Amino acid sequence: MAEYKGMNIFVAPNDHEHLGLFKAARQHKLVVQKCADCGRLRGHPGRACPFCTSLNWDWQEVSGKGTIYSYEIVTQATRPAFRDWVPYPVVLVELDEQRQVPWQGGLEGHTVSLRMAGNLVKADNPLEREDEERVAIGQRVKVVFVDLDDELGLVQWALSGEPPEHTPWRAPV
Ligand SMILES: [Zn+2]
Repeated sequence: MAEYKGMNIFVAPNDHEHLGLFKAARQHKLVVQKCADCGRLRGHPGRACPFCTSLNWDWQEVSGKGTIYSYEIVTQATRPAFRDWVPYPVVLVELDEQRQVPWQGGLEGHTVSLRMAGNLVKADNPLEREDEERVAIGQRVKVVFVDLDDELGLVQWALSGEPPEHTPWRAPV
């Protein structure tokens, strides 16, 4: 049984969207779903395309490089396993592969980006959370992986050390 921070991780064998993501992560590859009809990429696993509702899709490997689009600091652990982690950052990463492209069908002013949420961890130790003071919108990040067992891995994010995309912004504390 796959394990993370003392918790058992189970992905149902018929949950192809999550299973594919976790299995690729164990191979240290980041994959996302690509709609076979409109061609848009999506970062949250699911059956249907959120942009055109098509059920046809394929896996696409992506670079795992992106920018922190938003973040939050979790101050109350909802699971005992995270009790020693609070306060810890969760980031919404906008990946380089698909940024602000026009919405299929031409809805005026609407754009589509590829965003994924996850923990922000130390680049040299993905089992350790990143310090709260180092998190800011605009900081560049890269994907890192935690091996859960021989079959499954977990996608996490870490600061990449690249120059920030713009002056980093963080909420005043
Ligand atoms: Zn689509």
